[in-house]
This record gives sequence, structure tokens and C-alpha cells, in this order.
Amino acid sequence: MHKPELLIPAGNLEKLRTAILYGADAVYTGVEGLSLRTGSAEMTVEDLAQGVNEAHLKGVRIYAAVNTFSRNADLDQAKKIIPKLATIGIDAVIVSEPGMLRLIKSLAPQLPVHLSTQANTTNLEAVRFWQDQGVRRIILGRELNLKEVGEIAAAVPEMELEIFIHGAMCMAYSGRCYLSAFRNKRSANEGDCSQPCRWEYLLYESTRPSDPFIIEEDERYSYLLSSKDLCLIEYLSEVLASGVTSLKIEGRMKSAYYVAVVTRTYRQALDTLMRQKEKYKCRQEWIDELGTVSNRGYTAGFAFSEEKINETNQEIKYIQTHEPAGKVLNYDTENKRILFSVRNRIKIGDCLEILLPENIVAIKIISITDRNGNNLSEAHSGSEIYIPFEHEIQMGVFARQQINNHS
Ligand code: SF4
Repeated sequence: MHKPELLIPAGNLEKLRTAILYGADAVYTGVEGLSLRTGSAEMTVEDLAQGVNEAHLKGVRIYAAVNTFSRNADLDQAKKIIPKLATIGIDAVIVSEPGMLRLIKSLAPQLPVHLSTQANTTNLEAVRFWQDQGVRRIILGRELNLKEVGEIAAAVPEMELEIFIHGAMCMAYSGRCYLSAFRNKRSANEGDCSQPCRWEYLLYESTRPSDPFIIEEDERYSYLLSSKDLCLIEYLSEVLASGVTSLKIEGRMKSAYYVAVVTRTYRQALDTLMRQKEKYKCRQEWIDELGTVSNRGYTAGFAFSEEKINETNQEIKYIQTHEPAGKVLNYDTENKRILFSVRNRIKIGDCLEILLPENIVAIKIISITDRNGNNLSEAHSGSEIYIPFEHEIQMGVFARQQINNHS
């Protein structure tokens, strides 16, 4: 059984460091102005250079998405940035259209190129076509099932193949959709989808505006367009059997806490699978872990489907059982306490779960002290506090709390 790459989204340096801490083999991020994600999911070239250094020190690869659908006006920016990406040691760039590929081949031919899922590669002739163009890896269309993925891997074994195994999915084919641009001027096609397909809708008839027609899926709303989220943790054996090289988690816009939970869960599952091989069974605790972070109900998506439509969730909005409590900034060995950056309100008596990469440690907060030594009964998001903890703990580790654990 070949060891696959666990590929984690890292929209900024905090997320990159979190992904490395919790066991990513590789991370991907956007490049400012050139990726199909905006703002919180892109890095400057300077941050990328720092990220490359930190990732390579830990043996982690880093890929930079330059997968915007470039217009003529974007090309000058691309011409400036591409040579810099080669200089700082990026392991590969991710492109989605032939113009950017051609530019990279002329400006930095040594840079390995991965083809984005936005290019929507769905058959083996298309894979061979891109192979002829010098592409090293293809992120296959999400609409393929594992049987089709396996056929491609067997027919073109020299091509690296990457598929999504976890994260949000979309009702539009490969995310090509105007709904968000239409509703609030944030274009999905430029990586800035506000996900209005997940909003609550009622249908009004113009002559009776006070009497909405309910498109009934539950008592109040319809979520007809809202896709469930992808989760293949129960099917990792089947995923690996298809012959893919890289297992990708979606979510460059998601939080560092989300990165922590999802990375550590898939890391544990994959390591167990590599050790146990055919004796491997997915553990319920991993499925439960993935239920602790915000999701819209999980589905295996297209993995085993012969049908070419996505599965919606008509009953529920976001679900999650836990929320982030904060992050460890440092450990004070002398006084046996954690310096903790608070992300939600916590108070004395609350129970926290500290997410170590290998296990989870539960603690009850018995005292809170601010940086000036003042005792507090509670602390709020954004504050930095000390809480007692017996054992040395790594910087960057997250802690969480069950929702409704605190009043
Ligand atoms: S609005 Fe919904 S369907 Fe359209 S791109 Fe965004 S997530 Fe996909």
C-alpha cells in the first residue's frame, strides 16, 4: 500500500503552522492577487517565503495556488510574481487555465505545475493532454467517482493524482456559479463565494406578500440548494485503492482551529491505515471528531455514485458540537501554567479539551490570571491569560469546549 500525501489548506501563516503541528504532509495556499480565494486565504510572497522555510524544516511541502482565471490585465502581476515563487523554493504551483501554465513554462520552467480542480479534468484523455503540456499533478474533478479515478490512475500511472476527501461541496458544477455575485457582489468564480445557496429561502407570490409559500423541507425553510459536506474518512481504504497520490482537505477560508481538528483526525486515521492495512477499520471516535467542527451533515459525495448530481441537505443548517476555546501561546515551566490566547469566553469551572496531536487531554479551569498577575473569574475572546497545567505543552496547540458547556 503506498503512503498518500495528506494535503491541508493553509490560507495564512497561522494555519500553515497549525497544519504542520498536527501532521500535514503538504499544505496549499493562495498567492496574493493570483489565487481563486481572496483576503484571508492568500499569502504575500514574503509570508510564503517564511512559510516555505518553516515547512521545509519539518519536511512538509508547500504548494501555491495561482489559479485565478486570469484576464489580460492580470498577466503583468503574474509575470512579476511567478519568478519570485521559483526563487523562494515553492514545491509546486497550482494553475487552472492554459495561459498561466504557458507563462510559468516560459518564466520558471523548473517550477512543478499542478492542475487545479477548476480545470475540471474528468477523463484519462484529458489527463494525457495535460501530461503532454508538462503538468506533474492533476487535481481531478470532484464529480468523479472512485471507480473512474482508479481507471485514470491505472491508465496514466506516471501522473500524480489528487482528490478531495473532506470539506464543503457546491451545488454548482465545479463551483461555476453566479449566485453569490448576483446576491451580494462576491463572485464565486473569483474565489469569493458567500454561499448564498445555503441561506434560508421563502417563496412569495407578488399579490400576497404577507403569505409566503413555504417550499417545505422542514417547518420554516427550504435548503434545496445546500450541499452536504464531503467526508471520506470511513472510506480511506477504498480511496487509497484507487491509486491517488494526494488526499486533499478543502477549506482555505476555514479557521486555524478547523485545520487543527481535521488534520489531526485524518493524520491518525491514515497512520492507522498504513500500520494495520487490510485489518484497518475506521474508528467511531474519528467520525465524532469531525462532527465537532461546523458542518452541514456529511456525505461521501460522488465517491461511490453513478449519478452525476450532488446530495443536498434539506433538513439542517450548520451542526457542530464544540467550539474553539483558544490556543496555547507558551508554556511557563517555572510556574507550570499555559499562556493562552482566548478565542471564546471561558470562566473558572469550565472544562477544556486540549487537542494534542496524538491525544486529547481534558482539564477543568481552576484559576485564571492575566499577564499582570491579576486573578480573573472569566476571560474573553482576544485576551491572553494564564491557566494552570502540569505538563509542558507545545506552542500552537488548540483547546476547545463543548457548546453550552459554559453559561
Ligand atoms: S453560491 Fe453555493 S452553489 Fe454557488 S458557488 Fe457558492 S457554494 Fe457553490
